Amino acid sequence: MHSRQAARSHPPAGASTDLPAPEAGGVAYFYGFGGSAFLSGANFETGRLIKWGYVTTPPRTLAYFCAHELTHIVVGEHLGVIQSERQPKWVHEGFPDYVGIEHRQTFEALRDALGDRPVDIPMMQAYGAYPQFRLLVTFFLEKKGWSVGELLRTKLTFEQAMAVMRSDQEPGTGFRDLR
Ligand SMILES: [Zn+2]
Repeated sequence: MHSRQAARSHPPAGASTDLPAPEAGGVAYFYGFGGSAFLSGANFETGRLIKWGYVTTPPRTLAYFCAHELTHIVVGEHLGVIQSERQPKWVHEGFPDYVGIEHRQTFEALRDALGDRPVDIPMMQAYGAYPQFRLLVTFFLEKKGWSVGELLRTKLTFEQAMAVMRSDQEPGTGFRDLR
């Protein structure tokens, strides 16, 4: 591998973990020299990824993984690999999730659906790998009016972003604390 080329992969989290890897589709992508995304286990007839005996389900379709990985590449080329890798994880994964997810919920619908539960397998099956990250991205883009450029360059940590989102909600509107 060329030294300037940064490789990154999303392998399964391991047989011993309780939760499936967020991107158990087995996607690997490479930055540099134009950027390429490799989707292994793609099944074009069903529009699904089949990997390690696990068939990804909607909203995590083949189209989702394509859009998600291509968004990583576009962001990587836009910011540069170093800056891209330094993004807070909620932006680094939340924005590709926001772009790629099918049947994207409104901020209110996703907020109310997530509630205060931890992210578990049923939630991931219903709302994708990064529902809380996507909730924050939806909030800043659609409710706070941030541009994509502002989002991609924010330094807010997950906790700080959550605090901003919470403080922005008027009491008595039915907002449930996500802690
Ligand atoms: Zn990703």
